[in-house]
Amino acid sequence: EQLTKEDVLQMVEEMNVRFIRLQFTDIFGVLKNVAITPAELEKALDGELMFDGSSIHGFVRIEESDMYLRPDPSTFAIFPWRPMDGAVARLICDVYNPDGTPFAGCPRGVLKRVLAEAEAMGYTMYAGPEAEFFLFHTDGQKPTLVTHDQAGYFDLSPVDLGEDARRDMVLSLEAMGFEVEASHHEVAPGQHEIDFKYDNALATADKIATFKFVVRTIAQRHGLHATFMPKPVAGINGSGMHTHQSLFKEGQNAFYDPDDPLQLSKVAYYYIGGLMHHARALAAITNPTVNSYKRLVPGFEAPVYIAWSPRNRSPLIRVPAKRGASTRIELRNPDPSCNPYLALAVMLKAGLDGIKKQIQPPAPTERNIYEMTPAERRDLGIGSLPGDLKDALAELSRDEVIREALGDHIYQHFVEAKEKEWEQYRIQVHQWEIDHYLTLF
Ligand code: GLN
Ligand code: MG
Ligand code: MG
Ligand code: MG
Repeated sequence: EQLTKEDVLQMVEEMNVRFIRLQFTDIFGVLKNVAITPAELEKALDGELMFDGSSIHGFVRIEESDMYLRPDPSTFAIFPWRPMDGAVARLICDVYNPDGTPFAGCPRGVLKRVLAEAEAMGYTMYAGPEAEFFLFHTDGQKPTLVTHDQAGYFDLSPVDLGEDARRDMVLSLEAMGFEVEASHHEVAPGQHEIDFKYDNALATADKIATFKFVVRTIAQRHGLHATFMPKPVAGINGSGMHTHQSLFKEGQNAFYDPDDPLQLSKVAYYYIGGLMHHARALAAITNPTVNSYKRLVPGFEAPVYIAWSPRNRSPLIRVPAKRGASTRIELRNPDPSCNPYLALAVMLKAGLDGIKKQIQPPAPTERNIYEMTPAERRDLGIGSLPGDLKDALAELSRDEVIREALGDHIYQHFVEAKEKEWEQYRIQVHQWEIDHYLTLF
């Protein structure tokens, strides 16, 4: 059911909503919002609400800073943790230029553009993320690295003290229209995962942005700090955001072919081929922080090598066993520090490129790649993901297809900011260096 402008106006009236938050994300996926009152809502829904975009990271220059927000009525949701009397609701918005054209720096617009490209080829993309996160104690003010528990994979309370917080997160998400499929303690102490049902890619990107905000808000209400930082603690698992994806054509799953030995269609193979071909460049978007690359190392269930498998979990791409309408592939390198709109846009773009150019993936890898010698990997043509953010940015600069998905505006602002981030990191003196060199030399 797609909500209309009239539905939204009516619900705001009936539910006595007092504040409406208009949300959008900057190029890094950081949620921004401006609160309006119901009196201004109609004007806002007509896309007539102007704001100054010059202070938003990666948006515009001072001299051309007027932006317009166009709320998407179908994203209307009430914040269930706020009082129901005088409720707070939100609407997710697209950003437009004063002349009525979509603003090139709007990540949601970037995803819509790639979705339209898929649509023109007859495809609708569905996606489902598995976002992992840590819950840490605070020292009263600032977050610490002290985990709230010592539990592990699928453990129950009383060891899992985060269970109450997680339960509250699930209830809040459900109240906002999420269909939560599973929630559990993850492998590392203090690490959790909440999985919600797959949806079309745009709805999923909106949900990921909302998800992170809800998880952090509810954690805070339990006196905990939730973080989607990919690798907060060295030596234990990091947090990934494995992304399940499929294409549908004329209502049918286009990845399914009952006649193929693996029951995968040509389209599925090409999609895998495209993802593998562009994997190194798209990592700059799906793994966009310095810290992202501390997760993509051997030994912690995160991918390092560019390979795929219908079964084993060590490669970059896995094909879960489900077939028929549930046929899908799982890309395992994304992490939750990514901008969900841009990440889905570049993953889809890579897959579509595979379909257009009929890129055959290499044979699946059944062996554990981590146990292979570098020579064995070389012989099998198994490459690896970028080793750090700088490496990923260099790959991105060489990949026309992925750059085209982002568009010049976002590409340029993104790279400029990320090169600065890398440079700031590069000149730090790390604790590891002190530990290793201070007394040695
Ligand atoms: N935390 C792992 C990662 O970084 C995934 C673990 C799992 O879900 N099995 O991708
Ligand atoms: Mg999972
Ligand atoms: Mg997991
Ligand atoms: Mg998974």
